[in-house]
Amino acid sequence: MLKFSLIGKDNKARSGVFETDHGVVETPAFMPVGTQGTVKAVNQKYLEEIKTQIVLSNTYHLYLRPGTEVLEKAGGLHRFMNWNKPILTDSGGFQVFSLSELRKVKPEGVEFRSHLDGSTHFFTPEKVVGIQRSIGSDVMMVLDECTPYPCEYDYALKSANLTSSWAAMSKEAFEKSFPLYDHKQFIFGIIQGSVYKDLRELSAKDLITLDFDGYAIGGLAVGEPVETMYDIVDFTTSLMPENKPRYLMGVGRPENLLEAIERGIDMFDCVMPTRNGRNAYLFTSNGILSMRNSKYKDDFSFIDGNCNCYTCRNFSKAYLRHLFIAGEILALELASIHNLNFYLSLMRTAREKILDGNFSEWKEEIVKRIINNKINTEE
Ligand SMILES: [Zn+2]
Repeated sequence: MLKFSLIGKDNKARSGVFETDHGVVETPAFMPVGTQGTVKAVNQKYLEEIKTQIVLSNTYHLYLRPGTEVLEKAGGLHRFMNWNKPILTDSGGFQVFSLSELRKVKPEGVEFRSHLDGSTHFFTPEKVVGIQRSIGSDVMMVLDECTPYPCEYDYALKSANLTSSWAAMSKEAFEKSFPLYDHKQFIFGIIQGSVYKDLRELSAKDLITLDFDGYAIGGLAVGEPVETMYDIVDFTTSLMPENKPRYLMGVGRPENLLEAIERGIDMFDCVMPTRNGRNAYLFTSNGILSMRNSKYKDDFSFIDGNCNCYTCRNFSKAYLRHLFIAGEILALELASIHNLNFYLSLMRTAREKILDGNFSEWKEEIVKRIINNKINTEE
């Protein structure tokens, strides 16, 4: 079992730590997304510099390319990408249901066509565990069906039952198989049930019985109103075990992370800091800056005076704007480093505030500032 220790609580907000053979992960934690075995535009050296404790990669993408044979020959993903800290892999369920075409869902798994070359593949819960053995991720996720929004009740019920049945098959495959490399692997279950509380309850009960190392909430941040998301998160965390990490998949904006932490979530992943960075949007303590804006043409001030990342220590707004306007690839790296550091330091401060017992007051202040600045920076 994964060793997870709660260090402090402030109402429902939690600060904890879990241990893997590649190091500890302090929670609340944000996982930079490295879908293809790389955090887009950011090299491993800078991930370490900004104190990344865990990255997320993706089973679906790595299975299609470079494939499990290459990963096994490399000695697993840690060695392949030269990343010696923890890695969590998403099962690919979300990608099968969002990226690939012509899916056929069956009780034993899902048939899909690769978004790369149209080739046909079949994912079973057992196969997905096997692929994650080849990857060697510290934390694996079970294959699930991620329901879209909106989703009819009857479909959400059928889907939650399918996810439960796949979770049982995954747990059995996990227990019957062994790591290929010299470190331990853990496995998390994924609670589904769309926006229906009784289905979330049903799904949570099924998964908790299976005794996973941690639990994720899936099927949110797929287009539902943000208040609905918060309500479902609040409801679902109240059903989840206290002594295991809770992971809200695919969320979100800085304010979404803080609201979810207040409702008892420990882990997050999202493409937003890197994707927005590559599109010249920078998260700062003064709101979101659009670095293509001509007002930065000769603004030689630092990007964020409250940030000590490599980008902010060394470069001005004017220089970063110039790189974006000139289409220089360095812009993508500098912006991504800063945005990831913004997210990671937000999580570090959240941990401190939880331990100090004043998380909610701090959260209110930050969220207010973000919302006010959103209005100020509209162009
Ligand atoms: Zn910075």
